[in-house]
Order: sequence, then structure tokens, then C-alpha cells
Amino acid sequence: MSLTEDWVQMRRQYERVIHGTGSSRPRWHQCVKTVDTALPALVSHLYIKHYFSTDIKQKASELIDNVKLEFKHTLTTRQAWLDRQTMDRALDNWRRVSSLAMANAFYNTVKNTVVIPAGILEGVFYHKDRPNYLNYGSIAKTAAHEIIHGFDSHGRHFDADGNVNYWWTGDTDRHYRHKAKCFVRQYGDYYVDHLGLGVNGARTQAENIADNGGIKLAFSAYERYVRVNGPEPGLPALPYTPEQLFWVSYGTHYCAKHNKESLKNLILNDSHTPKQYRINGALSNSHDFSRVFNCPLGSPMNSVHKCSVW
Ligand SMILES: [Zn+2]
Repeated sequence: MSLTEDWVQMRRQYERVIHGTGSSRPRWHQCVKTVDTALPALVSHLYIKHYFSTDIKQKASELIDNVKLEFKHTLTTRQAWLDRQTMDRALDNWRRVSSLAMANAFYNTVKNTVVIPAGILEGVFYHKDRPNYLNYGSIAKTAAHEIIHGFDSHGRHFDADGNVNYWWTGDTDRHYRHKAKCFVRQYGDYYVDHLGLGVNGARTQAENIADNGGIKLAFSAYERYVRVNGPEPGLPALPYTPEQLFWVSYGTHYCAKHNKESLKNLILNDSHTPKQYRINGALSNSHDFSRVFNCPLGSPMNSVHKCSVW
């Protein structure tokens, strides 16, 4: 930032080619971003000290607890492809993940924890005063997505203490690859006509698997919430049930608009699928989504062949 105008222009030119944006952000924005990138823990500390209430933490913790309980339930009841020993080790990892810390969540393999920065809990992802189905469709899904990364093709290399220690045994790897192949094919079929480019199903598979498992876990976690606390009212003037609004919330938190350059860059380089397909891909695999919206089997959003790992 202390460089001369020539360098700023060079940067702008680069941004124009890669992202299609020519204007640089205001100086205050660049300064905040630089400090946050260099000293994230310090910025978080100051933010929490001045703006974060224990009320938010308590309510968000309840939501995260429901996600964790659902994941444990999933590990122990629905996963025929995990042999006994791998499942026991997965449960060890789950116990560690349960020490979940509190706008973008990430999985830290070495510490075996999911970190959800406090700032994410006071915006579009989450608000303590809005209906739970909206929060579960966005932040619970995000937390579940990150938890699943601890158990995927990358997470399997790290044990409960975060040490490099491959913990999958027996045929688990073969079963996983077989299930993952379904996602590689499904997402590899998504094609962006105006760019003449297809999604890379292989490069994006871990993220797609985390999206699919994440939304399934988040929906079960919301059902768990309703069993304990009772049903919630819908939103005035919107003709949707609370269950439908859960899925609407998932869709809206991925709402995005890309210019040609940034979409091309995303498809060619990113480990994530463009958001439109992150939504449609995961929802067309979901039995819960189809049930809630009465999508006939075989229609575009309720495919006959559904991919699933978790
Ligand atoms: Zn991810």
C-alpha cells in the first residue's frame, strides 16, 4: 500500500484480467483487510471485546451442539461403508471436533477443530433474533460442511490429536472412492454455456461432498431443534412452510453474481463449484428437499440417481 501509483495501476490491470474489476477498494478497506490477514486472532479479540454478546454465543452454541449431535448420530447409524475400527477412530475425532470454537468458517486439521469467527454470527449467515430455520439453513449448514472436511479425503490423514496419522482402515477408502465418483460425474456434467466451460468434478469433489453432507446434517439438526422446542411460525406474507424456508435460506446464502472473468477464474482454479451448482447439486440429491417441495422423482431438482457419502 505504500507503493507508488505505477504499482497500483499494475495491480488494477491484473485485477481487471482475472476478476473483471478495475476499481480498487477504498483505502480504509485495504488497511482493515491487511491487518485482518496478518493478525486475525488480534482482530477477532478486539471485535469480540467490543461487539460480541454472550447472548449470541449461547444461542449459536445450541445450534452447533445440534449439528454435532446429528453428526455423531450419522457416524454411528447410517454409515455402512465405515468398518468398525474406522468408525471408532471417527468417533475419537468427533470428540475432538466437539471442542468447536466460535465471516467464514474453516476447518483446522492440525488442531482438529472447526473455527467460526464471531463476525459471521451477526450478518446474513446468522442472527440471534431471526427464526431458527433461517439460521440452520445457513450457519448450521456451514458448520456441518466444515466438520465433514475433518472426515474427508484430506481429514483422514489427521488423527484426533491433529497428528499426521492415516486413520482409515480396511475397505473404507475403496467405498469412499466409489461414492465420491458419483459426485465427480454429477458435478462434471454442469456446463456454463456462455463460457464454453464445464465444472471440474474431480477438483471440486471434496467441497461438493461437504456441501451435500452439510445440508443433510443441518436439516436433521433443525428437525432435532423442532422436536425439543416445538414448531416455529413461518414468515408473514410468504407462502412457505418453515421447512421450506430452511431450504430457501440455504439458497439465498449462496446468492451471487459473477462477471465473466471471475466465473472463468473460479471454474478453472477454485476447489469450490460455482454457487448456482452448489445449490442445485446438493438440493437435487436431497430426499428432504424433494419431500418438502413435492418435487416429482425424475424432475430436474429430484434426480433418480442421488449421490451421497454422509
Ligand atoms: Zn469447504
